[in-house]
Amino acid sequence: MSDRVILHCDCNNFFASVESIEHPEFKTVPLAVAGDPSQRHGIILAKNELAKSFGVKTAEPIWQARQKCPDLLLVPPHHERYEEVSRRINAIYRTYTDLVEPFSVDESWLDVTGSRKLFGDGKTIADRLRRQVRQEIGVTISVGVSYNKIFAKLGSDYKKPDATTVILRDDVPRIVWPLPVGDLFGVGNRTGSELIRLGFRTIGDLAAADPDFLTRVFGKMGQTLSLYARGLDDSPVRPDREPVKSVGNGVTYPKDLLGAAEIYPRILELSDSVASRLRKEGKKGRTVQISVKDPMLAVVQRQKKLSAPTHLAKEIAAAAMELLEANWNLASSPVRALTVTVSDLCDADEIPVQYSLIPSEGEMRSEKQEKIELAMDHLRDRYGKKIISFGSSRTVREDPEQEK
Ligand SMILES: [Mg+2]
Repeated sequence: MSDRVILHCDCNNFFASVESIEHPEFKTVPLAVAGDPSQRHGIILAKNELAKSFGVKTAEPIWQARQKCPDLLLVPPHHERYEEVSRRINAIYRTYTDLVEPFSVDESWLDVTGSRKLFGDGKTIADRLRRQVRQEIGVTISVGVSYNKIFAKLGSDYKKPDATTVILRDDVPRIVWPLPVGDLFGVGNRTGSELIRLGFRTIGDLAAADPDFLTRVFGKMGQTLSLYARGLDDSPVRPDREPVKSVGNGVTYPKDLLGAAEIYPRILELSDSVASRLRKEGKKGRTVQISVKDPMLAVVQRQKKLSAPTHLAKEIAAAAMELLEANWNLASSPVRALTVTVSDLCDADEIPVQYSLIPSEGEMRSEKQEKIELAMDHLRDRYGKKIISFGSSRTVREDPEQEK
């Protein structure tokens, strides 16, 4: 099987470049986009090449940047404009392939494996894209060309501005492995310093390390980083996904379930997997729906609106169980299949927090439950899905209400 051809396109100094489209005079002065220039303590969001040559850095405070570059021109950000230019640039990418995955406002992956007959090899397409985006938009991009997404991203960072870097399999020992370990996608500051502490200085050190050792130290992430360093990332370029509208999980059981003691733990399991997927997607949902099938495959479907959106298994399970108790004869009707779905989704961090000086008992419970379930996510990320689950059968036995 021949290799895929993946491009990673990264706009150079994107915010500053977009500001310079309307103000060409900005190109000849050191320029930075900053949170709030009237505030001494605002920070630098982006800078142009001239500002960079003075040592101005992204995320540093304005006062510090001004010390290095007294003539620094500061402009406030125009995020809507950046989004719009980003859309136009991605539209250019899409004339070369349907497989375009925007990663952030100024970066996208393209899978051009199937486009070569029409447009030429990876480097040719990369060079054409650079010219076209420069001429049609007025922004320069750097492009990495490789056989996986991780090395394509390294390539776009390798040489800039306005450059193409090709990393084929044979180039990996020469180009990739000498790079500092912190350059690898997925290595954050903390992991980076931990790796260096353990003696892994370069990506090559990581590639040569025993994958089992990395897994022992860093969990699943260690395994992933080992694969990345060795060029074994096979994740596909995913074209823009539809936003998630609902998250559900259903199971058809090999043996019919009867009674709360058998059904409640299953509800909790389903709610748990739905909740952890919601948390992964960064969502909460306000509506809980259950679907119950009896052995004759008759289906009952009911839903309930919660008083506040949630991503917690306990709260989803409580609503699901309430629906079930109200609509199903638990004691005498066997259950063949169960589905729990949460819909009516919003971003988890968009929820207005209701501040009261003294949190209600419900709020405190919820906050505690959130800590427990986030800890569970963490353990599962590290050690795999099976490591932990709710002590659900005990919960049922301890609650005589549900044994009636
Ligand atoms: Mg960029």
